[in-house]
Amino acid sequence: MEIYLDNCSTTKPREEVINVMIEALQNDYGNPSSLHRLGLNAEKKIEDSRHKIADFLKVSPEEIYFTSGATESNNLAIKSILDKYSRKGKHIITTAIEHPSVMNVIKNFQEKGYSVTYLKVDSNGVISLDELASSIRPDTVLVSIMQVNNEVGSIQPTWKVKNIIKEKKSEAVLHVDGVQAFGKIPIRIKDWGIDAFSFSGHKIHGPKGIGGLYINKDLKLNPVIYGGNQERGFRSGTENVPGIIGLGKAVEIMSNNFEEERDHVRNLKLYFMDRLKEIEKIRINSPDEYSSPYILNVSFEYVRGEVLLHYLENKGIYVSTTSACSSKGTKKSHVLQELGLTDLQVEGAIRFCLSYEITKEDIDYTIDVLKDSVEEIRQVTMR
Ligand code: PMP
Repeated sequence: MEIYLDNCSTTKPREEVINVMIEALQNDYGNPSSLHRLGLNAEKKIEDSRHKIADFLKVSPEEIYFTSGATESNNLAIKSILDKYSRKGKHIITTAIEHPSVMNVIKNFQEKGYSVTYLKVDSNGVISLDELASSIRPDTVLVSIMQVNNEVGSIQPTWKVKNIIKEKKSEAVLHVDGVQAFGKIPIRIKDWGIDAFSFSGHKIHGPKGIGGLYINKDLKLNPVIYGGNQERGFRSGTENVPGIIGLGKAVEIMSNNFEEERDHVRNLKLYFMDRLKEIEKIRINSPDEYSSPYILNVSFEYVRGEVLLHYLENKGIYVSTTSACSSKGTKKSHVLQELGLTDLQVEGAIRFCLSYEITKEDIDYTIDVLKDSVEEIRQVTMR
C-alpha cells in the first residue's frame, strides 16, 4: 500500500512524460544552437513546448523563458525587475508567507538598503487588499505576491492587485510566484495584469530541475545570467532539452484534464474534511473557500507533526509537516505562525497534498490510520 499525499513537495511524473524524456535523451541530443539537423530538431521541440505553455497561460510564446525551476524563476524575476527600476525607487511589497525562494531574495535586498513591506495575512492565510493599497508608496517598484501558498494552500486575490497599483498611480511591477497555482486553479495572466509569473515542472507531474518564467514583453528586462544568449539572451546556458520536452508534455496533459482533475480533487478534499470531523481537537488550516483544492493542512493538537508523519509512513502514507524546503530546519513554520496558530497547533500540523491519482478509498484508509495514530500518540501526550 502506497498513498502519496505529498504532492506539494513534488509529484510523480506521468508515464507519458517519462517516455518523451527517454526518447529525447536517446534521439534529441543535439545542441539546440547547432545549425545541423540534430540541433534544429532539438530546437523545434523546445519551441513546441514553449507554445504549449504559452497557449495554456494565454500569453505569447516569446514571453516564456525556461529556467532550472521556480527557485531560479523567482530569483531572476525579482533581481532583474529591481535592477531595471533601481533609480525609480527602492521599496518592495511582498507577503509574510512567501516561499524562501522569494522571501530570502527580498531579505537580501533589504540588507542592501531596500525598504520592504511584508503584508500580514488573516487566520485563513489571505492578505488584506486595504493593507496593500495603503502600503503603496511613490518609490514602490515591485509587488511580489504568491498565488497559492505552499503550506496551507491559501489563494491570494492577485486579480485585484494591478488595479490597486494603478489606482494609486504607481508603476510598480507585479510578480506572482505561481508554482502551487499552475495547473491547479484558473490563472488569467493578461486579464489580471500580472507582469511576471514563475512556475515549475515537478509540481505538475513533470520533471524536476525545469521551470519557467513568464515576463510581459513590454517590460524589457536585463538578464541576470550572461553567456551564449540562449532564451533570447535573458537566460543563457545550453537548454535542458529533455526537461523542457517533459515539461511541455506535462502541461499538454494537464491542460486537457485540468477541470476534470480539479473537480475530482476538490470533491476528495471536501470528503476528507468531512471525515476529519471524526477526530477531536483539530484545526483545518485550509478551509475550502480560501484555498486550493489540492492542499489540506490540518493541525492535530497534542500530537507532534513529525511523530504523526512517521506513524503514517509506517502504514504507507506519505505526507509533510511543513514545506519540504523548510522541514529540514528546526525552525517552526513561519506561515503557520503568521496565521496566528497556537504553538500546539503549529507543532501538530500536517500537510496533505492531493493529486488526480488519489481515490476515495485512499482517503478512507488515511482517516482510519489517522484516527488510530492520533489516539495512540495522545495516550502519551495527554496523560
Ligand atoms: N515557490 C513555491 C510556492 C513552491 O512551492 C516551490 C517548491 N517547493 C518553489 C517556489 C520552488 O520551486 P522549485 O522546486 O522548482 O525550485
